[in-house]
Amino acid sequence: MGEFYDQNLKLSVGNGKRILFWTDAWHNGRSLKEDYPRLYSLSTQKEESLLQISAKKSLGVWQFQFRRRLLAWEEEEVKRLSRFLETSPALKEEIEDSCSWLVDKSRKFSTSSVWCWWAAVKQSGVKVPAGVWDYMASPKMQFFCWLAWRGRVKTSSFLHRIGVFPANAVSQCVFCQSEEEALEHVFLFCPLVWNCWAAMVSWWDQSWVIPGSVEGLLKWWVVGKGKSWISRAWQAIPSLVLWSVWKLRNECLFKGVAPDFGGLSERMKVQIALWVKWFFKVDYSVHDLVSNLHQIRLNAGSLHKH
Ligand SMILES: [Zn+2]
Repeated sequence: MGEFYDQNLKLSVGNGKRILFWTDAWHNGRSLKEDYPRLYSLSTQKEESLLQISAKKSLGVWQFQFRRRLLAWEEEEVKRLSRFLETSPALKEEIEDSCSWLVDKSRKFSTSSVWCWWAAVKQSGVKVPAGVWDYMASPKMQFFCWLAWRGRVKTSSFLHRIGVFPANAVSQCVFCQSEEEALEHVFLFCPLVWNCWAAMVSWWDQSWVIPGSVEGLLKWWVVGKGKSWISRAWQAIPSLVLWSVWKLRNECLFKGVAPDFGGLSERMKVQIALWVKWFFKVDYSVHDLVSNLHQIRLNAGSLHKH
């Protein structure tokens, strides 16, 4: 939904007082923060308006302030940014900044237009694998699963492809350190992640062949649309795993946490068990659901159905 919003809100530059230089998508529809993440993280002017930063130009050259001296490749980024800004719109002192909402004819933003779009997306859900919108998962997990399905997760190779990362920046998988961090790798093929899927699958006494893509995974996973707690729990697994793996990846990358996939699999099983108890009020304990699922499903007589 955030993506839809960003794509359809167009800012018109006036005097630059209301537009935030780094954050707002005031030039070519993308924010500078998104396209120049390193410079943004180093900037001491994160909250400054376009007018404020523009006023510091010297002889027509943009001047930026950073919290430390830049490295050579960061200087290159500044050059890239300056070139990009050459085509930016000039400030118009007498006009206020404004924005228009492209979805509505009036060009004014309305919640109902977002709602209409949302309803249309949900209705065309035939194409979206069912697991994406699993209602037991939280909205942010559902949204993340949708991003992964669309191939829009910001992995290193995605960032390289759109030119955000310089070519020489490290882009290896943070878990195995041996392959490039591509979407399929980090979510499916990385041996550590693969083990994690295998743990979830064997928890349900299933055997599986590793699918070649996230879409293949979601399609394989959702066989039938049962309403019992057993099938609901099974269907909630993919969005939980995708989201949890990405969260762990970020903790490893940005906080230096060592990946513990054994612990991750256990935590995910507990999470599913908690959801089952919350949504379906089953009598089994969390411990039983995590440790004795095989027996529970035998009793429920549904071992061979999802
Ligand atoms: Zn890996």
